[in-house]
Amino acid sequence: MSSGNSYYDDLRMKPEVIDPSENEDTLDIGEHVNDTSESASKPNAAVSTNVRELLECPVCLNAMYPPISQCSNGHTLCSGCKPRVHNRCPTCRHELGNIRCLALEKVAASLELPCKYQSFGCIGIYPYYSKLKHESQCAYRPYTCPYAGSECSVIGDIPFLVSHLKDDHKVDMHSGSTFNHRYVKSNPHEVENATWMLTVFSCFGQYFCLHFEAFQLGMAPVYIAFLRFMDDDNEAKNYSYSLEVGGNGRKMVWQGVPRSIRDSHRKVRDSFDGLIIQRNMALFFSGGDRKELKLRVAGRIWKEQ
Ligand SMILES: [Zn+2]
Ligand SMILES: [Zn+2]
Ligand SMILES: [Zn+2]
Ligand SMILES: [Zn+2]
Repeated sequence: MSSGNSYYDDLRMKPEVIDPSENEDTLDIGEHVNDTSESASKPNAAVSTNVRELLECPVCLNAMYPPISQCSNGHTLCSGCKPRVHNRCPTCRHELGNIRCLALEKVAASLELPCKYQSFGCIGIYPYYSKLKHESQCAYRPYTCPYAGSECSVIGDIPFLVSHLKDDHKVDMHSGSTFNHRYVKSNPHEVENATWMLTVFSCFGQYFCLHFEAFQLGMAPVYIAFLRFMDDDNEAKNYSYSLEVGGNGRKMVWQGVPRSIRDSHRKVRDSFDGLIIQRNMALFFSGGDRKELKLRVAGRIWKEQ
């Protein structure tokens, strides 16, 4: 690295973090958590903050990943923004060309940063290039609110979201692993302004969301009921549930595995992973004169051995 270029002042503060033997095209992107013996050699916080600022794209302000581009004056740019600046450096307006900033890429490879979900309890420290991958799967990453009827952007851990559903969405809470629910709607012919119903069940020390809603499947109006699990997918697989709906001597039964709330409500619905009831059948189960939807859904949740 040239020592005459003031642009790299911040980088020269910690030259020992660069491994000169490392091949420039084989940056280590392996994922590993630091143990305590390694943490003694971590760059100090001030230097990492400076380097982190250098790694911020001046256009989109996101962290930059290889290939990092630079203009002939040394201004850097992320690979996402490069095609959008019409070959002009957004900082000095000079021609951008195809110069790659290997020095900065290497410095980035030497950085180790805490997971961004540290405040949620994650204690992992990750190399710059594997931090994103970890964060996309971090067990401490917050869940998004499972309420379906509105675009709610609240995020948090499960106890927080349970209180949020109860207090802010006025969701019904039930304890126990069996339930018997009645859904009544006075004008079942309006599927367009679909109603979403959500009930939260607590059993086995866990929380489950029972969704019920009307939607349009192709041209056909249908109802769907399904269960989501308020924890991660690997835990969800330990549970099963059944739903039963019927009337007039007929019934439909669904048995399934609850889906984690990591999967969006829409994704579960659009994969039809639940009890689907065609409207004609739903009105038949409702009895009466087809003016009112009156469905009784009985269900059970159990833990697989
Ligand atoms: Zn950018
Ligand atoms: Zn420039
Ligand atoms: Zn993490
Ligand atoms: Zn919410």
